[in-house]
Amino acid sequence: MITDDRLYDILRRVWGYDSFRPLQLDIIHSVLAGKDTLGLMPTGGGKSLTFQVPALALGGLCIVVTPLIALMKDQVAHLRDKGIKATAVYMGMTAREIQQQLDNCVLGDYRFLYVSPERLQTRTFLDKIQQVTVSLIVVDEAHCISQWGYDFRPAYLQIGTLRDVLPQATVLALTATATARVVKDIQQQLHFTAENVLKSGFQRPNLIYSVCHTEDKGSELLKILRARSGSAIVYVRNRVLTNQIAKFLVDSGITALPYHAGMRSEQRHNNQRSWLAAQARVMVATNAFGMGIDKPDVRLVVHWAFPSTLEEYFQEAGRAGRDGNNAEAIAMLDTKRDVPRLKARVPNSFPDKDFIKRVYEVLCLYYKIAIGTGQDTTYAFNITEFCMKRKLPILQTFSALHILELSGYLTLSEEVNVPTRVQVIVPRDSLYDIELTTLQDKVLNYILRTTTGVFADLAPIDETKLAKAIGISTQQAAETLLSLSRLYVIKYVPHRQTPYITLNQIRMPKEEIYITRAAYEDRLAHFTKGIEAVIAYATQTTICRAQLLVNYFGDEDAKPCGKCDVCLLEHAESDNDDNLKAKIMNIITQTQGTTLSELLLAMPQFDKESLTENIRTLLDENVLIIKSNKICPV
Ligand code: ADP
Ligand code: MG
Repeated sequence: MITDDRLYDILRRVWGYDSFRPLQLDIIHSVLAGKDTLGLMPTGGGKSLTFQVPALALGGLCIVVTPLIALMKDQVAHLRDKGIKATAVYMGMTAREIQQQLDNCVLGDYRFLYVSPERLQTRTFLDKIQQVTVSLIVVDEAHCISQWGYDFRPAYLQIGTLRDVLPQATVLALTATATARVVKDIQQQLHFTAENVLKSGFQRPNLIYSVCHTEDKGSELLKILRARSGSAIVYVRNRVLTNQIAKFLVDSGITALPYHAGMRSEQRHNNQRSWLAAQARVMVATNAFGMGIDKPDVRLVVHWAFPSTLEEYFQEAGRAGRDGNNAEAIAMLDTKRDVPRLKARVPNSFPDKDFIKRVYEVLCLYYKIAIGTGQDTTYAFNITEFCMKRKLPILQTFSALHILELSGYLTLSEEVNVPTRVQVIVPRDSLYDIELTTLQDKVLNYILRTTTGVFADLAPIDETKLAKAIGISTQQAAETLLSLSRLYVIKYVPHRQTPYITLNQIRMPKEEIYITRAAYEDRLAHFTKGIEAVIAYATQTTICRAQLLVNYFGDEDAKPCGKCDVCLLEHAESDNDDNLKAKIMNIITQTQGTTLSELLLAMPQFDKESLTENIRTLLDENVLIIKSNKICPV
C-alpha cells in the first residue's frame, strides 16, 4: 500500500515541490489502484508528474510512449539530472544501440524507458520488453492514437499490442485536448479494462479571446503588441513566415525570434532559450512550437491565421496565461481572403486518389524500388527536395504521403538528429602498418580510446568533444574523419538531421494501391466539419468565444465569460440601448407627451427602426402609454 505521505515525500525529495496541482493526486491514486486511466489536463497543467511520481513509488519500469523525439530527450535528461535511471529508444538509432538500451532496462534497474511509437512494432522490442517488470505504460499526447484527433499518428495504434503483451501493467493515457469522440476512442484503442476518465476543467477564466478583423495583419500585429507588454507567441502557418514576421518585428523595434521544425536544432534551442529567458519578447512560430514548452507568464498568443481545427486553436491559445493572471488570445482574420483559404485546405489535405497513387509511384521510382521488392526498407527523405526534383506540389504531396501512411503502405518519421557514427574497418593489428598524418593519428587514437565496440559496428561519436580533446575545430575534425574514410581506415557516417520514410510493404503496381475509407472518406468528412467549425468561430458575433470553445469540448455548463470581443460587444449594445431608452424617456417626460414623428425629429442621430423598437419595449414594460396618439409617461 502506497500512502500519500510516500507520494509527497517523492514530490519533495525529487522535485522540490510541496503540493500537487489539481487533479494530479486523483490521477496518481487511480493509477496506483491499478486502474487504466485517461487523464485530461490542459497544457502546462502538470501531466508528467502524474506518471513520474507513481512510477517511482511502484518501482519496476515505466514505459512512456511519446511522439516527439526532441521532447523525449529533454525528459530523459531531466530525469537523469535528478539521478533517476532513464533512457530512450527512437527512430534513427542503430539496432545495436537499441539493443544496448533495452539490455540496460533488463539488467540495469531502469525506471523510465521513453519510446517513439514506430519502435513498438519491432520484434526485438516486444521480446526484450517481456523480460522486464513493467509497472506502468504511459501514453503521452494520447490524442495521437485517434484518427478523430487532429494529430493522428498511425504508429500509435501499435500501443494496443504493447498493452496486450504486458497485461499486468496499468495504462495511463494523457492529453490536453479531447472531444467526446476522441476520449472514447483513446480508451478503446488502448484496450482499457473499464472506462475511466479524470478531467480537469477546460474553462480558463483568465484568458480573454477575441477575433481581430483586419486587411493589414502586419500593422495590426504591431498595434496589438505595442498596446501590451509581456511575453508573446505569434502562430503562423508556414516556416518562411516565421522568419519574415520575426524580422519585420525586429525592424519595428520589438524583439522577436523565429521557431520552426526545419531549423537546425542548435538554432532552435537557442531561440527557445532566449525567449524563455525573456531576452526576446515574441516567438514567431509554427505549430511545432509549444508541446512541452512551459512558460507560465505568456501574456498574449496571436494567431496570424487559424489552424484547421478548434482543438488546435484552443491548445495553442491556451499557452497564454498559465500563471493564472490575465492573458489574451487574439486571432487575426481577413475575412475576404482567409475564409476561402480555410476552405481550400480541404482539397489540399485530400487530393484526388489518382494523384495519391501517382505520388506513390514517383516515390518508388525515386528510390529505384522495383515492383515486388522494398518491404521494410528505410530512406532518408527530404520532401522539399523530392517535390522540387519531381515537380510535385508540396502541400498535396505531403497530404498524399500521409494518406498512403494511413492506408498502411509507408511510415513517415519526423526529423531525427542522427549523431556522427564511425566504424574502424581495418583489423586492430594492421592499424600500425598504415601511414597517417599526426592529426589523423590523434583522431584515430581518440576514437579507439573513447569508443567501445568500434570495430564491430558503426558507433556514435561526438565530433565537438573530439575536436575539443585534440584542440582542433569541429570543421577540422570532420575533415580528418573524412580523410580517414578515404584511406579506408574507417567507415564514416556524418551527422545529419533528416526525416525518414519506410516502405511497409513490397512495391505494388499503381493500380493495386487501395486507399481505405478510414484513411480518406471518413477523414475528409471529419476534416471538413472541423474547418467549418473554425470558420463559424471566426466569423460569428453572437456566442461568447470562451463558451463556444468549451462547448465544443462537450462542457455544456459554461457561462459567458463577459470579457471576449463578443461579450463586450453585447455589453456595448445593451449599454447603447439603455442610453437610448434614457434619452427617449427624457424627451417624453419633458414634453409630457409627443407624437412619434416629433420624437423622430427630436432625435435625428438615431435610426427610425431602433427608436420604434425601443419605444415598443418601453410600452411593453408599461413605462409609457399611448394617449390620443401621443406617447406619454405613465
Ligand atoms: P503538461 O505535460 O501537462 O503540459 P508538464 O508536466 O510539462 O505539463 O508540467 C508543466 C510544468 O509544471 C513543469 O515545469 C512542472 O515542473 C510544473 N509542475 C508540475 N506539477 C507541479 C507541482 N505539483 N508543483 C509545482 N510545479 C509543478
Ligand atoms: Mg506533457
